[in-house]
Parts: sequence; structure tokens; C-alpha cells
Amino acid sequence: MFKHGDPPSVKTTSHPPRTGWPLHALVRRAYLKHSLGKRLAMLMVLAAAVSALLAGMGILGLKTSNESLHEVYEHRMVPVRELSRIQQLMMSNRLILQVALSAVHVETGPAQAARLALNADAAQASADAIARNIELISARWAAYASRSLTPQEADQAANFASQRARYIEQALRPAIVALRANNYAAVQRSANDAGQFFEDMAPQLEALSLLQFNLAQAAYQTGTERYQRTRWLSLAALLGSMLMMTWLGVILIRSIVRPLQRVIDTFRQISMGRYDTLIRIEGADEVSEVMHALQAMQSKLGDDEAAIHKLAFYDPLTQLPNRRLLRDRLQLALNASARNQLYGAVLMIDLDNFKTINDGKGHDVGDDLLVQTARRIQSCLRQTDTVARLGGDEFVVMLESLCNDAGLAAVLAEGIGEKILHTIRQPCVLADQPHEHTASIGICLFPDFGTTIDDLLKHADLAMYQAKATGRDTQRFFDPQIQTALEARLILEVELRQALPQHQLELFYQVQVDNTQHVLGAEVLLRWRHPTRGMVGPAEFIAIAEESGLIVPIGEWVLRSACEQLRHWQGSPGTAGLLLSVNVSARQFRQADFASLVRRISEETGIDTSRLKLELTESLVLHNVDDTVTKMKALNQLGIEFSMDDFGTGYSSLSQLNKLPIAQLKIDRSFVSHITQNRSDAVIVQTIIGMANNLGVTVIAEGVETEEQRAVLERLGCLSYQGYLAGKPMPLREFETVVMQAISADASTRESSQ
Ligand code: C2E
Ligand code: MG
Ligand code: MG
Repeated sequence: MFKHGDPPSVKTTSHPPRTGWPLHALVRRAYLKHSLGKRLAMLMVLAAAVSALLAGMGILGLKTSNESLHEVYEHRMVPVRELSRIQQLMMSNRLILQVALSAVHVETGPAQAARLALNADAAQASADAIARNIELISARWAAYASRSLTPQEADQAANFASQRARYIEQALRPAIVALRANNYAAVQRSANDAGQFFEDMAPQLEALSLLQFNLAQAAYQTGTERYQRTRWLSLAALLGSMLMMTWLGVILIRSIVRPLQRVIDTFRQISMGRYDTLIRIEGADEVSEVMHALQAMQSKLGDDEAAIHKLAFYDPLTQLPNRRLLRDRLQLALNASARNQLYGAVLMIDLDNFKTINDGKGHDVGDDLLVQTARRIQSCLRQTDTVARLGGDEFVVMLESLCNDAGLAAVLAEGIGEKILHTIRQPCVLADQPHEHTASIGICLFPDFGTTIDDLLKHADLAMYQAKATGRDTQRFFDPQIQTALEARLILEVELRQALPQHQLELFYQVQVDNTQHVLGAEVLLRWRHPTRGMVGPAEFIAIAEESGLIVPIGEWVLRSACEQLRHWQGSPGTAGLLLSVNVSARQFRQADFASLVRRISEETGIDTSRLKLELTESLVLHNVDDTVTKMKALNQLGIEFSMDDFGTGYSSLSQLNKLPIAQLKIDRSFVSHITQNRSDAVIVQTIIGMANNLGVTVIAEGVETEEQRAVLERLGCLSYQGYLAGKPMPLREFETVVMQAISADASTRESSQ
């Protein structure tokens, strides 16, 4: 698998044909140039050519054999038969003459001379037979001599031909004449001559026959040799062709099977997600086309995979790795850190007040800020470091392999964190407006403070919240003690959810008096009667309620309870004039329906709204001044007044305060507690009182614990007080008793003064 974050590179090449021995390479290259169809056609043409060649050679072999047989029989055996026939005819002539001569008798002629006479009929028949034989001999000889003759044969034949002519003319024809004339002596002579000729010509005939035999043998020999040659040639041609066809067939099969195997392998690789698999393409056949298509598909799949990978692992806005990819890399970094014993760090970066910009200036501007921030963070890092965006304005930087010393690693991480804070702090332009913003960073070192991804991120997150809590634009390292506290806080949150339905919440009342100890009213302060922890003060749970949103139902309950109490007091003359201050948290106040909720509660409880005071803090009212003013004015219309709680701890200016319909400034306890010793606190308090006078609003000091403090405050012009001096926050019954005592003391004072 390729590493997440590194989009797959798609590499494909056309591989050059492999080279073997030259001819092989040459044929292969030429052969592979053609399509599979053409290659198959070539093989078939070759097979047809080989078959034709073999058939041709077979025909040639048959022709050769035929010629040899023809030569042996027609040219040699037939002449031998003719010659032997001639010899038989000559023999026959000889016998005819001897038979004629044997049938002799003595005849006495007219001259009384006795002479040997032949049998007339037999002599006549013998003459006829010899005449027929002459014709037959001539015919046979003509048949023999009509062939084309070899030179040696021609010489011998010429000799025999002249002998044959003389034999006929000198022996046979005279014999016929003598037989017809019944001339015994002449016949006797002719018979002798014929015998002599036979004797002379027989060796010639035998020589001629022998020559034919020799020539027949030679022809047979030649025929046999030609047959053998043809047979070996055919065999060699057959073997050669078969080898050639086998070779081409092997190339063909390999050129199909091997690329197909590569196609299969490539498919397998691609199916396993390896889109950079090398594809070798040889030749230009159908399989190569498949390979080309596969190559195109591979690169397309690679692109798609890269796009999918980008979508799955990168934040589309900043192009930074997203949470998933960060987790992968964190896991790798944790593994590496366990192996190489090198420290790394996770920096959780959160822009300060990003929500204000995003909501106030629009999401496009917010996006622009996030992109610019991403680039700025990246500019502070090494190539090997990772910066990811988790969502919203949360970025995470992962620093790997810092060093093997925890202390030094912390210093290095802090240095990079500072660099990031510095670069984020630089002014930028948003929607053509110069803008400055800051960030808070939480740092967690690994592996010491987290061996799992979730722990690391959680710890860095906790540290980041600590940085936020300590004033923003700063960085904090994760400290396990903070985590313990936060875990306890988490448990508290779970329990707080049950507090309201299980009626564990209670209202305490802290009296507010004037400089004559006259009771003006009270501030309602929330308490949580925890089943195991006992009474829990709001300092421990209001912030949790605020963050979890529980403050909305809790705040509504407080307001309703306070109003019900006010309504109840209004029923009796002693308490009818009491004012009740209710604390309103930021989240509660920012609910869109806050004003209508207060109206509904006040109507439902039927209170005199001029007796209800809502305490807001500076940071709350300054957040979205326009909206705040609208809501405050709407509530003012109902007769409800506002008190600015913890005044002096925020940064509100006179001009901002001027816009707000406030009835009272509540000097924070922190100025009151040291007012007798600390001159500057006294100056601040004096300034606040001066501001209140300028604004035309009343002023009350909270946390007044001693008579000295009260006296200083009175001297400075503050005539209303809240604090332990007048009374601690207490349960309703107790408060009412205290109030009743104060009222009666008041009455008796008035009476005595009258
Ligand atoms: P706060 O509104 O400024 O309330 C005054 C706090 O000062 C109270 O603390 C009170 O007990 C304490 N205090 C008053 N006089 C003295 C004094 O002489 N010496 C000392 N050391 N402390 C004094 P508490 O009751 O713990 O409330 C703390 C904060 O919790 C309140 O500050 C207020 O901001 C918040 N809170 C209390 N009840 C509610 C509530 O119902 N709703 C909301 N939203 N916040 C509440
Ligand atoms: Mg208050
Ligand atoms: Mg206060």
C-alpha cells in the first residue's frame, strides 16, 4: 500500500522487445509487429506451404520412381525381350533348315543320275517359315532400334544390324531359294551359313542383352538413389518446417500467453490498489491493445484513486490532511517513536474568536482566514511534519522524531509553537480589510503523555483549553493534573444534568443594603445541594453548565423561581419593595428568545417588573453590542433593569457603555477587598463611581466584608453594598428572617428618631 498522503504515481512504460540471438530477435520483432490474426494467418500459410512442398516432393519421388521403373522395363527389359526373340527366330531358322535337310531321299532323274532330294512339301513349308521369320526378325529389330540408344549401345547395335542384314541376305534368302528349288546341296550350304551366322551373332546378341541388363541395373540404381534422396529431402523439409512452425507457434502462444499473464497480474495488482504497477507492452497486436487499454484504465483508476484518496484524506478547503489521515500518521509516528525512542509532539491549534469572524463577517471570510492560517502554519514546519485540519478552526501539527530527551523535545516543540503563534499574529487582509487575529496552542509530547492517538489528541486539546483559559494567544503543555481536574469536571457535568430534574438546585439570597443598613433587596445566587458532595457553589458548576448548554434550562428555572419569590414578596407590605437581582449568563442571554422568555415568565408570575434586575457581565454585553442593546431595550420596555456585574474586570469603555441601557454598575469584589490597603484599587473604584455618575446610573459594591471597606466606599460615593458585612448568601427562610429583623430594626430606628 502506498502511504496515505502521497497520491499514487501512475507509471507505465512500453517495454522494448527483449533481445536474444540476432535472428531470433529479428524474426520475433518482425513477427510481433503483426496482429494475432495476421500471425495465425502466417502460420497457416506456412503450414499450407509446407504441405504443398511435401506433396510436391512426394509427387517428385513418385515421378522419379516411375521414371526409374519405366527406364528399367520399357527401355531395358523390352529390348532384351526383342533381342532374345531375334535369337529364338535365328535358332528357329537353323532348326527349320536342319529339319528340311533331314527329310532327304534319293531321286533318280531323267538323266538317270541319282541325286539327294528334299521332301518337296516340307521344303516348301520351311521356305515359307524362314520367309516369315525374316519379317519377324526385321520387325523385332526395328522395334529394338527405334528407341534412343546410348552411344555404346548404338555401336554394338550398328555391328549387329549389318550382321543381321548379311545373315538375311547371305544365308536366309539363299536358303529360301534353295528350298524352293529343292536343291539339297544349296540348302545344305545355306544351312551351314545360317548356322555360322547364328554362332557369330549369338555373342553379339548376348552382349547387347547384357548391356541392357547393365543399363537396367544402372537405371535401377539411379532410381533407388533418387528415391532415397527424395525421401531424406522430404523428411528434412518436413522436420525443418515442423520446427519452424513449432517455433513460430511457440512465439505466437508466448506472445498471447505472456501478455495475458501480465494482464492478469496487472489486474491482480490493480485490484490490490497498486496503481503504479509497471505495464510492459510488446508488439502491436490485439493483446497489446488490451494492455494499452489496461494502461489507460490503470492511469484512470490511479487518478480516480488519487481523487478518492484526496477526498477521503484531505480537507477540501485547506488541502491539508484531515482527521483520518492525521490519525494514520499519528499511529505511524507513535510506532516509530516506540521503536527509535525519539520524542514527538502534537500541537492542537485553535484560532481565538474565530466564531466571531465567521458569524460576523460571513463564511467566505472565515474560509479565507482558515486557508491563510493553514499556509502560515505550514510555513513554520519541516517537510516531514504534518499539519492537519480537524474541522472548524482546529488545526493539529504533528512533529516527529524531535530528539531523545523529553526536556529538549519540549523546548523544540515550544519553539515551533511560538513560531506558529507569531506567524498567525501577523496582520492579514480579509475581505479587503486589514485584520489581526491570534491562536491558542496546546502541546502534548509523546510517548510520555500519550501512547494512543485518542489520548494524544485529548491531552493536546486539554492543554489548548488551558491556553485559552489563561488569556489566549499563548501555548500550554499538557499537564496530567489538569486532566484529572477536567475529568472530575466531566463527571460533574454528567451529575449536573440530573440536578434540575432531581430538585437538587436551590436559590440562596444575599442581601443588598444602603449606607443606612436599609435593605434594598437581594441577589439570587444558585446552589447545588449535591447528594454526596454537599453544597456546591456556582463557581464550580456555572462554567460547566455554560459550556454544556445546561445553563439554558437552569437559568430559566432560576429566573422563574426568583420571579415567583418576588411575586410572593409583593404580597406582604414589609417585602413588597425588595429588589431581586438575577444573574444571567452569556449563553442564556444569547438565546434568540431570551427577551420573550423573560416577558413570559414575568407575565406568568405577575411580578412588578421594576423590582427585577438582571445582572450581565461586561464580556457578555460587549460581544455583539447591537443584539445586546436590542434585547436590553426590549426588556427595559417591560420595566426590567440591568446591572453590570463584576464591573471593572472587563475592558468596556465609556463610549461602549453609553450605548447600553444599564441602570447599575456593580463594582467587582476584587477592587473592594483591598480598597483599604491598595491605593490603586481605591482609584479604580473612584473612577467607576465617576463613570456611573457620568452615565447617570447607580453603583453598588459587592464583596464588602468590613466596616472599613464600606466606609471607604461611602466616602468615595458608593452608597449601596452587598457582602458578608451585610450578610452572606443564605437560604430563603434564613434570608426572610434576616430581612424581617432588619425591617423591624429599621422601623424602631425610625420611631426612635421621630
Ligand atoms: P457574582 O454574581 O459576582 O456573585 C457574587 C459572588 O460573590 C457570590 O459568589 C457571593 O457569594 C460572593 N460574595 C458576596 N459577598 C462576598 C464577600 O463579602 N466575600 C466573599 N469572599 N464573597 C462574597 P457565589 O455565590 O459563589 O457565586 C459566584 C458566581 O456564580 C456569581 O458571581 C455569578 O457570576 C455566578 N452565579 C451565581 N448564581 C448564578 C445564577 O443563578 N445564574 C448565573 N448565570 N450565574 C450565577
Ligand atoms: Mg452577580
Ligand atoms: Mg459579581
